[in-house]
Amino acid sequence: MENFSKNYRDTLNTDIRFIKGVGEKRANAFNKMSVYNLWDLIYFFPRTYEDRREVKMISDLNAGDLCCIKAVCLSSVSQKRIKKNISLCGFRASDRTGVIFVKWFTNPNVKIAINKGEEFIIYGRCTKGYSGNEFEMVVMERSDSIASTLQIVPVYHLNKGLTQNVVRNAIGNAFLNISQLIDVFPEKILKRYSLMGINEAVGTMHNPKDFESLKRARLRLSFEELFMLQLSLLLMRNNREKDRNHPINDVFVVDEFIDSLPFELTKGQKTALDSILEDLSSDRAMNRLLQGDVGCGKTVVAAACMYVVAKNGYQSAMMAPTEILANQHYDTLKKFFGDRIRIALLTGATKKKKALYKEIEDGMYDVVIGTHAVIQKNVKFKNLLLAITDEQHRFGVNQRARLFEKSGDNCANVLVMSATPIPRTLALILYGDLDISIIDTKPEGRQEIETIFVNSSYKQRAYEFVRKELKEGRQAYVVCPLVKDSESMNASSSEGMFKILSEKVFPEFKLGLIHGKMSNEEKDTVMEEFRLQNINLLVSTTVIEVGVDVPNSTIMVIENAERFGLSQLHQLRGRVGRGDKKSYCILISDSQTKENAERMTIMTKSNDGMEIASKDLELRGSGEFFGTRQHGLPELKIANLFTDTDLLQSCRELCEEILRFDPMLTKEENSLIRQRILSIYEKADKEGILN
Ligand code: ADP
Ligand code: MG
Repeated sequence: MENFSKNYRDTLNTDIRFIKGVGEKRANAFNKMSVYNLWDLIYFFPRTYEDRREVKMISDLNAGDLCCIKAVCLSSVSQKRIKKNISLCGFRASDRTGVIFVKWFTNPNVKIAINKGEEFIIYGRCTKGYSGNEFEMVVMERSDSIASTLQIVPVYHLNKGLTQNVVRNAIGNAFLNISQLIDVFPEKILKRYSLMGINEAVGTMHNPKDFESLKRARLRLSFEELFMLQLSLLLMRNNREKDRNHPINDVFVVDEFIDSLPFELTKGQKTALDSILEDLSSDRAMNRLLQGDVGCGKTVVAAACMYVVAKNGYQSAMMAPTEILANQHYDTLKKFFGDRIRIALLTGATKKKKALYKEIEDGMYDVVIGTHAVIQKNVKFKNLLLAITDEQHRFGVNQRARLFEKSGDNCANVLVMSATPIPRTLALILYGDLDISIIDTKPEGRQEIETIFVNSSYKQRAYEFVRKELKEGRQAYVVCPLVKDSESMNASSSEGMFKILSEKVFPEFKLGLIHGKMSNEEKDTVMEEFRLQNINLLVSTTVIEVGVDVPNSTIMVIENAERFGLSQLHQLRGRVGRGDKKSYCILISDSQTKENAERMTIMTKSNDGMEIASKDLELRGSGEFFGTRQHGLPELKIANLFTDTDLLQSCRELCEEILRFDPMLTKEENSLIRQRILSIYEKADKEGILN
């Protein structure tokens, strides 16, 4: 068995350049699509399928039909070059029911080998010809035999140097190297979930006999894909939980912190805090996601935890995605803590870093707030027990992993906070390695933000409205998509807007400008002035998108609102409505598209992050919403996180069941699963999960 499995693995690892019909050059083209070995090639599934089962009679054709015809060539083939590397070939053909003109775009060096009088089958798109009464067919592919034609034909992603036929042949040849794939799932699991066997599934993906079996094959492979992904997340989590925690003894000190706050915690905040403190006092490591819509008050929950940790003699670190936010957290926490807790700020802009590193290592600080500077190698802690990341959706899984590593021997507890609301099933996969707490309450006295959508002819009126708020002592934001004016992009810029607003529109007020191209010191100064109310109106880009908390601001104008995603608009809008005063958001957009109208309507109607996120998903598709780049997740090839939620759930249950009986996957029956997981980790460059 051992030998056999080694041979099997070696075969699957065969470099594709040694597969018949591939070779060096094409192998490179495949490599660019992440296809390196035999296994990759077999799992290189079609992008889509063309249904070529029907051969149509010419007399039955309609413009727009995509189908096969079987006809005889009536004339010789004319060929003329229309571009440097494209020729247009044409000839007339007939199948006795009618005549059609066939158009064929080719490479000028390729001769169309069809002679007058010859019968052929082609697949293409039917269009109306110039004369109006005769159809034309633009050829997409010629088939040499009926057998290869009257099928559902796979269509693959291509790269320079590859054609559909080359890919199809390569995959066909790949199967010659291996007689049978061995199923990672034992028979009983296949039965339990009514899954197709692996050989049938893979065969069907490349060569489906009908769409019904294709659906079942896809289901099986989605199951496998989601299963592997979830299993690796669960292993990551189990691996971390092995780290023994130093449970804190005294959680009740939290009361003295809560009593010192100027407000009552909401129900949601209390519940979340309780779960976290329970984690911290257990000897298992904490891996928890704290999710809650913008403005629900996550920071103070984090602060309470850090307070408890400090009072038990350990250090905490809190990481924010931007410099602005790190600075703000530093100020906020200082206010919450007073001189009860020693707190340090560590960002890219921090001066005399070396000295600070030493002080952190010596334990002179209880809490370190920072940007990702906090997870740099040279930062060592004396006894870090709790690591918090704010606005988690801005960090990738990889950065999260690094934070976990950083925690090392001492700190096993990680809390990640995010305002991006995601449905629970999805959270299972995006944050499958974490427990989840949700704050579903808002602090008392908050009023709904009123959102208004107008086109730019209303701009002056909008500004008058802003002026009214400013006169009452409130503050405002004007958000623009660009930093500087741009010739290529027709959108307003923060610099241009700042000039117009400060010189022409609001000369009587103090205006500030903030954008990502400014130095950190400049940004800090502006934010500080805004917080101190020395600036009345802040013109900005999306640098203020996350986290910024200035409760006296009650109005936001968003220019070129069509340029922002829905969830992003919701985040931006979350900068107002943070106090007990009525707040407003004015969206300005001249885009006439139906989609834009729909999006703006959603914004005016809803203040609910979850609802907006679902709409965003619906309108933009999953790819963009949860860009893998953003989350550092492996790309899913077959499964769809949004439509396959039931499947996700079953996979999750199965993963948990398997790990319960075989936590390190050492049993014989799980050996193939183990191997697959190991190769996933090898690719992701993470080791040591299974030993
Ligand atoms: P987010 O969850 O978006 O990070 P913050 O933590 O920035 O929200 O909190 C938003 C604002 O609400 C802050 O000004 C904070 O001080 C205030 N806040 C938090 N909790 C409460 C509460 N229970 N009652 C009143 N105000 C609160
Ligand atoms: Mg926040």
